[in-house]
Amino acid sequence: MIHIKGLTKQYKDFVALDSIDLQIAKGEFVYLVGPSGAGKTTLLNMIFYSDFPTEGDIYINRFCLKGLTEKQIPFYRRNVGMIFQDYKLLPGRTVYENVAFALRVVSCPWAQIRRKVLQVLELVGLQHKIMQYPHELSGGEQQRVCIARAIVNSPPILLADEPTGSLDPDTSWEIVQLLSKINMRHTTVVVA
Ligand code: ADP
Repeated sequence: MIHIKGLTKQYKDFVALDSIDLQIAKGEFVYLVGPSGAGKTTLLNMIFYSDFPTEGDIYINRFCLKGLTEKQIPFYRRNVGMIFQDYKLLPGRTVYENVAFALRVVSCPWAQIRRKVLQVLELVGLQHKIMQYPHELSGGEQQRVCIARAIVNSPPILLADEPTGSLDPDTSWEIVQLLSKINMRHTTVVVA
C-alpha cells in the first residue's frame, strides 16, 4: 500500500530525513515513533503530497508520487485522509458542514452528501452534535470531527499526525480506539 525508497528530505543545509526505506501493507496499523524533530510530520506530509522529497521515491496504492500529473493529483488525494493535532476545522462552519465540505470539494453528488456525512458522524459518535460549531465542542469531539472529515471519502489510507497530542489520557485512549475501529474496516492507518 505504501512503498518508500531512499527518501531524503533536506531543508537548506539541514537533513530532516536521510535515505528512508519503508513498506506498509494494506490493512496495517503503524505507529511512527521518535523524539520531537525526528521527521515524523515531514514523512506524513510527503505521503499526503503536501511536501516533496529532495530525493527518493514514494509509491502509494499504484501511484508514483514523483510522476503525478496535475490531473492525477485530485484522484491521488482521494487515497489519503489526514488528521492533525490541532484539528484544522473551519471555525465558522457546523460539524455537518465541516464534514460535508470534504465531499463538496471532490464534487460528490448532492444526494449522496447527506447520507455519507450522517453515516460517518454516527461512526465517530457525533450524530447528536451535527449543528454545533467547533468552539462548542471539547477537544476530543473536535478530533472526532476531524477524523470524520478525513474518512468520509473512504480513503484506503488514514494518516494521523500526533492526533492525541492536545488531549487528556482518557480522551486520547478513546481516539486511539476509534482509529483502531477504522483500521478494522480495512483502512491502513499510520499514526505519528
Ligand atoms: P517531528 O514531527 O518528528 O517532530 P518534523 O518532521 O516536524 O519532526 O521535523 C523534522 C525536522 O525538520 C526538525 O528539525 C524541523 O525543525 C525540520 N523542519 C521541518 N520543516 C521545516 C521547514 N519547513 N524548514 C526547515 N526545517 C524544517
